[in-house]
Amino acid sequence: MTIKHNIDKLITDINRNKSGRKLGIAEAFGVNVFNDAVMKKMLPKSTYAELKKVQAGETSLTLEVANVVANAMKDWAIARGASHYTHWFQPLTGKTAEKHDSFLSPQADGSAVAEFSGKQLIQGEPDASSFPSGGIRATFEARGYTAWDCTSPAFLKEDAAGDVTLCIPTAFCSYTGEALDKKTPLLRSMEAVSKQAVRVLHALGEKNVKRVTSTVGPEQEYFLIDKKFFDARIDLVSTGRTLFGAASPKGQELEDQYFGAIKDRISKFMKELDIELWKMGISSKTKHNEVAPAQYEMAPIFSTTNIAADHNQLVMETMQKVAIRNGLVCLLFEKPFAGVNGSGKHNNWSLATDTGLNLLEPGHTPHQNEIFLTFLAAVLTAVDTHADKLRAGAANPGNDLRLGANEAPPAIISVFLGSFLTQLMDNIVKGKATQAKGQQFLKIGVDSLPALPLDNTDRNRTSPFAFTGNKFEFRMVASSASIAGPNCVLNTIVAETLDNIANRLEKSKDVNKEVTALVKETWSKHHRVVFNGNNYSEEWLQEAAKRGLPNIRSSIEAYATMANKDAIRLFEKYKVLSKRELHSRFEVYVEQYVKHINIEARAALLMVKTQYLPAVIDYTGNLADVINQLKAAGADSTVQEKLLEDVSKLLVSAKAKLSALETNTQKASNISNVQKKAAAYRDTVFTAQVELRHDIDALEELLPNNLWPVPTYADMLFNF
Ligand code: ADP
Ligand code: MG
Repeated sequence: MTIKHNIDKLITDINRNKSGRKLGIAEAFGVNVFNDAVMKKMLPKSTYAELKKVQAGETSLTLEVANVVANAMKDWAIARGASHYTHWFQPLTGKTAEKHDSFLSPQADGSAVAEFSGKQLIQGEPDASSFPSGGIRATFEARGYTAWDCTSPAFLKEDAAGDVTLCIPTAFCSYTGEALDKKTPLLRSMEAVSKQAVRVLHALGEKNVKRVTSTVGPEQEYFLIDKKFFDARIDLVSTGRTLFGAASPKGQELEDQYFGAIKDRISKFMKELDIELWKMGISSKTKHNEVAPAQYEMAPIFSTTNIAADHNQLVMETMQKVAIRNGLVCLLFEKPFAGVNGSGKHNNWSLATDTGLNLLEPGHTPHQNEIFLTFLAAVLTAVDTHADKLRAGAANPGNDLRLGANEAPPAIISVFLGSFLTQLMDNIVKGKATQAKGQQFLKIGVDSLPALPLDNTDRNRTSPFAFTGNKFEFRMVASSASIAGPNCVLNTIVAETLDNIANRLEKSKDVNKEVTALVKETWSKHHRVVFNGNNYSEEWLQEAAKRGLPNIRSSIEAYATMANKDAIRLFEKYKVLSKRELHSRFEVYVEQYVKHINIEARAALLMVKTQYLPAVIDYTGNLADVINQLKAAGADSTVQEKLLEDVSKLLVSAKAKLSALETNTQKASNISNVQKKAAAYRDTVFTAQVELRHDIDALEELLPNNLWPVPTYADMLFNF
């Protein structure tokens, strides 16, 4: 009764735009989300209160509560035009998956009613046996099940055809309870870091804190190109990047694209994107042109990590949808074009208490600063100790082309703290006072830090892990990947150091003194990971080697560190991933790597055989005819002959390289050990493809533009 009344009112509110008035942006925000406000309105008070407790992890969900919530969700969704619901999940492919079920339930008398039970809300059984599981599911036990993540709100997805689907964020597990997805370990890692952070805070006297959540704001970079160019390129269609293409005369050297005026067509895309995202409750906040031509960025306002991860998936999906609607294609691949910057995701991360404290925000009181320095020490220790795992969290085939390529952070993990904090830490170790902008402060636990400058003067854009005033920005994250992986690593490694810190503080009789000792120790042991200089420079490579920092160059080496002894120890200890789950992930990712490089090789072979070589052969034939005619006419043909000679040389060379790529691919595909196979793909297939590209790109620069069979870099990057 109350539900019915409430929903009618709610829907009238939402549908006001249908009666002529356009929804303002504030009204449009979240209209497609079954969010807290909607639940508060629709659920009986007691159910709402119960659900809040479940969300806070204080009690577990009962079927009774689930039934009431499910019913309200269904009424709300149907009133908004939905006919189907789906358990929306995130398999190891890094994408999202959904299988739609209708609300309709046929009755004995031939009629049907709309139904959605608590059981259907809590648990689903998509057969889903084709998703990669890395051996966790043999086919006889292929069933996986999805379980409602009640901490991430359900939402409606509208497609261009007007179809509306209720999406319920879920975790995806095997019957044996093993995680088959990216979300389950992320949720577990959030639990782990919360538990340890709360212990530390209690030891520091913050007794009111019950929960700590990791917060994330992922900035998303992407490219947009005209769909007609995309469709004409086999490489883009099948791999997401260009495998060939000579540099256009103009690249990004003028830096006129960065923050430049946004072109109308792009502006229209961005506006539509914003509206679509706002409707789903995603707070798309800033948008601008990025460094490379045709490259852009979108940043949302940060949120709880699992919601941020869900939202980022929706952001990527929506970008692609809205682009198509506008005759554009959104490229999320890490390095779609050689010679100009690639894309990444800047993963802004912090920890917040349920009492409203940002633990990485230097405070105004000595006590707040004690907390800040303790958590800063925890992060520094974690990042230095587990740099390999963080690196693995950012690994994918696309990022192999980016990390260390003088545009993105190198594959070496280091932390930028800025000169002020670095000096402060130095001084704490020396027991010296630090002076900042006229303020004087001495030892931690006694004095307070001044507000740190948040302006850009102290920014370092080359650092892979930069402190930016009140959060850390992990800049290695791959643009096309889910952010669940890197944040799962981040939460878990910080959970471990917080655990160690809590052990010390809980035992200590003088907590202030212990914190000082701890900060000093951290600085002596781990300040090697701090680097405030230019991470793109050659000197840093040498310096980092001297400091003993790992430089894990390729993704397959990085994946291996996710399943080594230390990783198993760590992730098992904090109940984030078991040995079997780690191994399965390792296998799945290595296999994905192999498949990706194999697809690239096949696309390259196809393009060369069916597009580039025929064009070049035609051209040389015509050129030979011209030379003969010139000779017959007694005219000078030296220019034409030289050109023919140059083109022919490249043609011969390209043909040989084509054969090499073909042979190497064949050989690599026959290797059965997956790790050796991946290494062969990296060292012989990928490299052969790069070799072949040299010749083809050189040919592109010799042939008349109108004879070139595919759109050029200049077309794709500048022609809008
Ligand atoms: P900049 O990159 O210039 O520092 P912002 O300061 O606006 O830009 O922040 C970039 C991203 O960091 C945004 O998504 C923002 O919401 C997010 N962010 C800000 N504070 C936090 C926080 N405490 N935890 C996680 N992310 C945050
Ligand atoms: Mg940033």
